[in-house]
Amino acid sequence: MNYGHVNLVDGIWLKGTQGHYVSVNPANRSPVGDVLGPDGHVAEQAVAAAVREFRRGQWVRNPRLRAATLNAMADAAATVSDDLVDLLISENGKLRAEAIGEVMASISELRYYAGLARDIFGRAFSGQPGQMSLIEKEPAGVCAIITPWNAPLTLLVRSLGPALAAGCTVIVKPHRATTVVSNLFMRSITSVPNLPTGVLQSLNDPDDWVGAWLVNHEDVRVISFTGSTATGAKIATSAGPRFKKLSLELGGKAPAVVMADADLDRAAREVAKGITVLSGQMCVCVSRVLVERSIADEFQHRLKITLSEIKPGPGHLPESTMGAMFDDSAVERHLANQQAAVAHLDMEILLAGKDLRGDTGGCFVTPALFSSRTTDHPLIQNELFTPMASFEIFDSPEEAVSLANASDFGLAASVHSADHNCARWVASRIDSGTVWINCHNRLFVETETGGYKSSGMGRLHGVEALLDFQETKHIYFENDYETRPQ
Ligand code: NAD
Repeated sequence: MNYGHVNLVDGIWLKGTQGHYVSVNPANRSPVGDVLGPDGHVAEQAVAAAVREFRRGQWVRNPRLRAATLNAMADAAATVSDDLVDLLISENGKLRAEAIGEVMASISELRYYAGLARDIFGRAFSGQPGQMSLIEKEPAGVCAIITPWNAPLTLLVRSLGPALAAGCTVIVKPHRATTVVSNLFMRSITSVPNLPTGVLQSLNDPDDWVGAWLVNHEDVRVISFTGSTATGAKIATSAGPRFKKLSLELGGKAPAVVMADADLDRAAREVAKGITVLSGQMCVCVSRVLVERSIADEFQHRLKITLSEIKPGPGHLPESTMGAMFDDSAVERHLANQQAAVAHLDMEILLAGKDLRGDTGGCFVTPALFSSRTTDHPLIQNELFTPMASFEIFDSPEEAVSLANASDFGLAASVHSADHNCARWVASRIDSGTVWINCHNRLFVETETGGYKSSGMGRLHGVEALLDFQETKHIYFENDYETRPQ
């Protein structure tokens, strides 16, 4: 079955009629599925169903129903987990281990928010006898969830879980390149009994107009967006004058700070994995390796060896240790960025990343490392989104912090040191939503993630994610409960 053909509107999967996109396996260029989009009328029906269900209130006012439904959704997703893994490998070019991790985390996240749905409490305050204030949490309204392609299930569920737990009704808008896997997931979770029709819709977007259309729609009050900082800025610009609630999870440029006393083998392993996870196409990938001068040569040597051992290849082969790039343009960007480093006086290629397309037939590259003595360059300031990192040297913890913060991004960072106090000192001073110590890229359903500066606003995962989908209401009343009843 080609799940990309259909759009979910008011409980019915409707065949798309507008636009056509073929999602392709980047490891071997075979087609995975045709994606057909909605026309304007069908898209309008999707929003109308979400509005109707929100106003009806059955879902909005029944946290136990929401909890039971989210748990049932987790069970339903588990029954198709093997198919989801296979589709993530083929449509996304991921390694099998990465795909399994993504599917398991998504199921776990649904269960976590099933629990939290039953733990939404307000507060009460009585300032004087006879006065009573209730502070209540309400779902913020119809929500559009717009996702990128690089982790299409976890990035969907970390918005969808809290949105549904909070009581919002939702329209999901996947990236066109990962619509097939997204729609299989949506088909499984919407098959559960007790999900009121209209709570959850999904609109394909082969021609890339539905996202902006949803952002501009007057009945969509919450936008939960994960994607590039450039698109996030466009969304903020159009949603701002309408004062919509925005949750923006944007780009990153994660530094890894390696102090002289770090366990160098462990740090090299963590940093190399951080550079190459999802083939360098993850928002929290290590992009800048900042190393204390006294160990710079030794660490560079170990890091280059570890990176050289990476084996790019199709995700279903057990010997592959790095999957495919998104497409040919990502491969070409990887090569062009290395040329830009070669052309700059303050930069030098330390490990050349190769184009393996000729040998493999797929969009494969090897990782690249370059030294830099400047932070004032697009290679240091922009997100590259390929397995390529800069190697920069510092002389003191203060300089490490200053280098790490010489960026508009602030999504994630790591510090590697045997001295816990020093690592903690540096971690506290880096402007970043997440800082890992002696490891890189550990994300948990229970712990908040999000960006400082141009990396976004709001938090997902954990209890704080609910806030992105809630309004706070003050209800006040006066009565005579201080007077003894007759
Ligand atoms: P993208 O911004 O190109 O697209 C993301 C989504 O936005 C897609 O579904 C796209 O169709 C939609 N879109 C495009 N223009 C739009 C508009 N004007 N209005 C509304 N929606 C629009 O990003 P991408 O290439 O799919 O993903 C890679 C980016 O996502 C990287 O920058 C990466 O760092 C970022 N990302 C961030 C996180 C995080 O947690 N902060 C996680 C994953 C990816």
